[in-house]
Amino acid sequence: MIRWLDLGKVNERFRTEIDARIKGVLDSGWYLQGKENESFCEHFAMFCGTKHALGVANGLEALALIIRAYGFGVGDEIIVPANTFIASILAISQNGCTPVLVEPDPATYCIDPARIEAAITPHTKAIMVVHLYGQATPMQQVEEVAQRHGLKVIEDAAQAHGAMYRGKRVGNLGDAAAFSFYPGKNLGAMGDAGGITTNDTALYEKVKALANYGSDYKYHHIYKGTNSRLDELQAAVLDVRLSHLDADNTRRREVAHYYRQNITNPLISLPEVYDEEAHVWHVFAVRCKQRDNLQQYLKNHGIETNIHYPTPPHKQGAYSEWATRSYPITEQIHREVLSLPISPVLTDDEVQEVISALNMWKCTEFLA
Ligand SMILES: *Cc1c(COP(=O)(O)O)cnc(C)c1O
Repeated sequence: MIRWLDLGKVNERFRTEIDARIKGVLDSGWYLQGKENESFCEHFAMFCGTKHALGVANGLEALALIIRAYGFGVGDEIIVPANTFIASILAISQNGCTPVLVEPDPATYCIDPARIEAAITPHTKAIMVVHLYGQATPMQQVEEVAQRHGLKVIEDAAQAHGAMYRGKRVGNLGDAAAFSFYPGKNLGAMGDAGGITTNDTALYEKVKALANYGSDYKYHHIYKGTNSRLDELQAAVLDVRLSHLDADNTRRREVAHYYRQNITNPLISLPEVYDEEAHVWHVFAVRCKQRDNLQQYLKNHGIETNIHYPTPPHKQGAYSEWATRSYPITEQIHREVLSLPISPVLTDDEVQEVISALNMWKCTEFLA
């Protein structure tokens, strides 16, 4: 069986390093807001090229805290791609803001910058871009629109740790960025974890306080804050994983390159890439009209796949108020995408096996 992502194997490679750091936390007797958190945040800010990085509890909270820190709330609109993981949109709703969905560019799967301006109203406060599947959104046009209308640009970088756009890392492409360190992400913890990067010192200070009971120093509370912090154990694991992230992303790029060079089945469309060196391939999504048949066929051949995502946010029960809306590009993507195995621990033989199976698929047999 070729796993879509073998997380045990991913972390096993670093067992010695991770063991030592976990032991260090146990030995220290200090579990929150300590040296590991400090070390990881310093390294992550350096990695992204930003002034600040802050660890928080998870990716959804990272997004929600940024929106809250900017003071956006009821009556404010935030533009967001219609095809994203629902958390991007939940972070907007959670703050009482109105998510304004914009269709993606089917070539990049990211928000179509050319469609943003038409969605702007006098209530618009920010554009949230999502670097979906590990490819940075083409930011130049987004930046231009944002500047013309005085909007903040918030990055949802949960799927794109290390990805680049014109020589800059994601996390450093807008006013503030949110990361998830959910175990399956390119930079994953061993539990829930998230982070924020920004060059805006005032925003950083505010998010930091908001995430710590609204406290700027101990027992002094200036906001009605929440508790959303990164613990020492997760920070220690992340610090180890970060030191291998570029190498892991390079391997993902090799696998993706191999797929793109060698999958030749005309029934399967390959993802388009505008900068081969910049993509970090959190997900390798092909498209296919007979997607469900292909998925079953691969399963019968011992190849595990996934669908990111089967149902678009506007068709979810959580957003029943949008049930009658139609976003045809988003809906088509959701009908057709299939995520092939991709990870830094996939072997050349496994990649070859996936390619052979895909190239032999004819979609003639009925597969139950
Ligand atoms: C994973 C993910 C999130 C949410 O992160 P969590 O840490 O799971 O809360 C948000 N946005 C996108 C695009 C994601 O893939």
